Amino acid sequence: MMTFSKKQFDGMSEEHRRAIIKAGGVITKSGAVNFDDTQVMRERPDPNFPKQIKKFAGSMATWAGSGFKKVQQHVYERRLAICRKCQFWQENGNLGMGKCLKCGCGKGKQWLPHEQCPIGLWGKENT
Ligand code: SF4
Repeated sequence: MMTFSKKQFDGMSEEHRRAIIKAGGVITKSGAVNFDDTQVMRERPDPNFPKQIKKFAGSMATWAGSGFKKVQQHVYERRLAICRKCQFWQENGNLGMGKCLKCGCGKGKQWLPHEQCPIGLWGKENT
């Protein structure tokens, strides 16, 4: 079970929030969101999925530590445009959030200042 605080959840993109709810995330009275990743793992028997969930949780913790900073809109759009031209990008992967076949991440990753492309096509820039 993973829990996203209200602040973490509110800081996610609309697409990301929708995908978590679609995958069974439950919004609590406090606004935090509980997400049973074991159910998703049962439905998606991908041997890499548990590793991706751990990586995702680690990235969320780093993001929380940064004060939930996001890159500027034009940086996000530039990063996403690069992904969309990349041979490893699946637009409909990750419950419609897009998926990089190299790292497993979706469109939310491009918003995070500490993240970078696993093959070096975009980096940690924020301008
Ligand atoms: S993160 Fe890098 S490898 Fe993955 S889809 Fe985007 S550009 Fe391609």
